Amino acid sequence: MSSLLRDRVWIMLSEIAKRGVYPLHASRLGIFRLPVELIDLSDISSVSNDLKSSGFKMDSYADRIYATHNWTENGIDPLTQEKLSADLYITVEIVTGEVVDLIYQIKPLEFFGDCYWVRNYRQKADNNAKMIIDTAIRNTKIGDKLIAHYQKAEKISLESAITKLETLTPLAHNPKTRSTTAVPPASVSAAPPKPLQPSVEVAPKVQIAATGPDTTIVLSGNGTNYSKQEGPIDPNFKSKRQVVGTFRGIKVWGPIDPPGQLGVWGTQVTVDYDICIADGACIEACPVNVYEWLDTPGHPSSDKKTFMAREKDCIFCMACENVCPPQCVKIFQKGT
Ligand code: SF4
Ligand code: SF4
Repeated sequence: MSSLLRDRVWIMLSEIAKRGVYPLHASRLGIFRLPVELIDLSDISSVSNDLKSSGFKMDSYADRIYATHNWTENGIDPLTQEKLSADLYITVEIVTGEVVDLIYQIKPLEFFGDCYWVRNYRQKADNNAKMIIDTAIRNTKIGDKLIAHYQKAEKISLESAITKLETLTPLAHNPKTRSTTAVPPASVSAAPPKPLQPSVEVAPKVQIAATGPDTTIVLSGNGTNYSKQEGPIDPNFKSKRQVVGTFRGIKVWGPIDPPGQLGVWGTQVTVDYDICIADGACIEACPVNVYEWLDTPGHPSSDKKTFMAREKDCIFCMACENVCPPQCVKIFQKGT
């Protein structure tokens, strides 16, 4: 077990601790403890390799694995109008042993230089750390072991355990879909480690189109020759684009050419789908549950988007707009 945590950790199971940052050091340290064993060197190596495949920079030391996510902030100097750029990163430390501890510390913004102009750094760093953690849980053997733990501890089916894991990891990058036949029967975490069967990738559920009178947009088509778009959203898009249809009652502003070009969605809560990278920060931030996921396979930025299904519930707190890494969300107060 991590000696780092022995004296001062708040011990809590992952499902309780799931979404919090625990204020041990001025709200800057987040800890998750998972009730699974990660001792076997091949398992540790597998976790590291899977995270590397998910796009993180990996490092290791003794019983620790370090996964780092880098991102770039762009801005404009308010005085000189000069374009500014800053390279930032956040690292999650995975402490292996009889339990798995996932730890991150948010560095002060000053650590990265004179980046006073970066907006919502803490929220973005926190969200990116949670994205790494969700990916580590969802896409690696840690997830296989957690599923086995749920099956045994809660006496639930494999399907229910997989669903529970998926529900707990909404921010996972390129989330893995598990087959209900790929994970071995529940095993006790304290038992001698056995190699797990590799999970079998199955096609994700794809919501190509909704049905009903409020939907005229179809998400499939021949528009595949598109590349990823950079943010931010054009705040004046309503004067430049036309409404080309609706999806479950939500307006869609063209041009669109599915599946590669999807336009801007929404009226008050608007998201440029051609920029959205589906990291889930807006879903996480929204206090009234406006958003849900919508599968958009074949789109160059991400194969799912955040859908403002309960747009009318928006209380205009602006949290989603502020937290969106590529700045593809724009909130319009009623009447604007
Ligand atoms: S502005 Fe606030 S309430 Fe409205 S969608 Fe964004 S986070 Fe939710
Ligand atoms: S709208 Fe922004 S915050 Fe929400 S999922 Fe897309 S990129 Fe992330």
